[in-house]
Amino acid sequence: MSECILKVALDSPLDISFDYLWQAEEGERPEIGQLVLVPFAHREVVGLIVGIETESDLPRDKLKTALAVRMQLPPLSPAWIALCRFAAEYYQRPLGEVALPGLPKNLRAVKTVSLDKAIKKLAKAGSAQTATAGDTPRLNDAQQTAATSLANTREFVPTLLYGVTGSGKTEVYLHAVAQVLAREKEDGIPAQVLILVPEINLTPQLEANVRQRFPEVMVATLHSGLAEGERLLHWLAAHNGQARIVLGTRLAILSSMPHLKMIIVDEEHDPSYKQQEGLRYSARDLAVWRAHQLNIPIVLGSATPSLETWQHVLSGRYRKLELRERAVQDAVLPKVGLIDLERKAPREVVTDGISASLLAAVRKRLERGEQSLLFLNRRGYAPVIHCDACGWISNCTRCSAFMVLHKRDRRLRCHHCGLEQRIPHACPDCGNVDLKPLGQGTQRVEETLHGIFPDARIMRIDADSTRLKGSAQQAFDAVHRGEVDILIGTQMVAKGHDFRNLTLVGVLNPDTALFSHDYRASERLFAQLMQVAGRAGRAAQKDGGNPAEVLIQTRFPHHPLFAAVRVHDYDTFAGELLEERRQANFPPFMYQALLRAEARELQTALDFLHAAAACIDHDGITVNDPIPMTMTRVANVDRAQLLVECPSRPVLQGFLKDWMAALRPMKTRARWSLEVDPVDI
Ligand code: ADP
Ligand code: ZN
Ligand code: ZN
Repeated sequence: MSECILKVALDSPLDISFDYLWQAEEGERPEIGQLVLVPFAHREVVGLIVGIETESDLPRDKLKTALAVRMQLPPLSPAWIALCRFAAEYYQRPLGEVALPGLPKNLRAVKTVSLDKAIKKLAKAGSAQTATAGDTPRLNDAQQTAATSLANTREFVPTLLYGVTGSGKTEVYLHAVAQVLAREKEDGIPAQVLILVPEINLTPQLEANVRQRFPEVMVATLHSGLAEGERLLHWLAAHNGQARIVLGTRLAILSSMPHLKMIIVDEEHDPSYKQQEGLRYSARDLAVWRAHQLNIPIVLGSATPSLETWQHVLSGRYRKLELRERAVQDAVLPKVGLIDLERKAPREVVTDGISASLLAAVRKRLERGEQSLLFLNRRGYAPVIHCDACGWISNCTRCSAFMVLHKRDRRLRCHHCGLEQRIPHACPDCGNVDLKPLGQGTQRVEETLHGIFPDARIMRIDADSTRLKGSAQQAFDAVHRGEVDILIGTQMVAKGHDFRNLTLVGVLNPDTALFSHDYRASERLFAQLMQVAGRAGRAAQKDGGNPAEVLIQTRFPHHPLFAAVRVHDYDTFAGELLEERRQANFPPFMYQALLRAEARELQTALDFLHAAAACIDHDGITVNDPIPMTMTRVANVDRAQLLVECPSRPVLQGFLKDWMAALRPMKTRARWSLEVDPVDI
């Protein structure tokens, strides 16, 4: 027996590692990166060994003894711990709060699960994979050039694969993956590739592509839709190196991949790479750091890159590989037109938010047997109901938000706090029985279209219609099989999907984002419109006629954003946005962090933020005034925020570290949290 001190990171808000005594048996040596069961605050919890020492700063009688080192699991690598440590420091969180929550629950359970069990299953699952190799289309010249550049890259070179929608970026990724795996065969050094996608709904499509292309390779998938048992299997396959390809959503960036040789981030601009609660990390940013740390290539793919990435390209820090045309022969980018809802003569007739011009275009598609997609980023039937007689409106009693009408369920629902109630029979204030829905949600559009086109096959895809596991996939499959004539959907349908028979995209209500208080709104709207437009016209144009079409309904047809969308000109628009950002001192020319506070009373939250602003010296940092959040109240809690800014990232980082140390012991009834590089401010 030999005694040592284990330094253990625990999932606890205290920003320290904890010391435990351990008596190692003969021949057994605990290692850094192993998991360990320890007593902590009257409980038993699993922690991560981050150091092994002979002595502790604490007196011996204060030390507790660790209960069990989980020997069965091969240790997490120093590189993985370094990644977690970086994320912890960058986002100002304790290491344990970053490292542990990302591990499968079963590994963190007090009761050990036998991994032998799980590992056998894995071997079986591996051998049961009997996909057959699919056809490999011949790369076009642009794809070939990009693929060759990537094949010649073995070191950290951040590369933007900038390709218009439908330009065949996936095919370039697959070639890059094939290169990495082929190299493993040559030099015998194990290789793994991590592919990130923004949406859980896009994993099956890419997964099928990948499995078909690499039938002999084990592919692990990691996303929030997995059951715990499955998640353990896939996580283990990545961790022990069996899975050569790991495909996942943002959470997969923290997966353990000891042989990682390349990272691909598809649709790198997508907001879903940003985690919006708990540890508010950017999976894309962590991916770049991870690739840098390992000195491996990283590919960021997009038709509408984030302005952060674009600025890196302009400044020469990232390489740009470009695909300017659609990959499918004779497939061309759709023609984008605007429908002016304010036009006087002839006046546009609008039925429940859908213009006559758009309806005529849908009718044309129905006659030709082609598909249409109507895009509206608002689920439910109507965003609010109101009373004409007295002006009553369906406010949520717990939030500064409206209750959304869900007509089919006969309910009003708050999309922020989840509060539900029956639709009132009469106005609660004046008794008027004629309450009216205001505005449109996807359900109302669906109902309206059923009325106008009773024979059309109409499908709605949004968070409400796809609550059941697998239902989103079924819905997308039906669209691909041509069983749907008109597809109505929210942003869920706007990204990534390769719909082949879709020749019309209608955008119903983009206007609110044109004049938002959020300086990122136009970047987002532009990307969203380019992306949703990109779903149309992905097949060869028939007989040289009938180009695919995108019709955008708007009251502001002269807005410059639409001019750029019409000509599919990302470059110019991005350049203009960046110039605005530079002049206004916004990111990416400024680094920001947001301190949020919430409490029953707004004043409590504001008082805390004022105290926080005053509590340490902040030379070189701009500390703005604390303000209530735009949506102040959610679920009976008031929320306020304080923005700090600095043109230097290291200076901001140094400040944040000191600031957090000063804030943690501060007494307040407000709950608070810090977000680094906030996106919604
Ligand atoms: P992106 O991700 O750039 O929007 P995809 O990767 O979805 O585009 O490709 C669009 C379509 O083009 C897919 O249906 C794909 O099978 C097809 N495609 C890709 N490369 C080629 C090629 N070299 N020749 C023919 N078709 C291709
Ligand atoms: Zn009323
Ligand atoms: Zn609410």
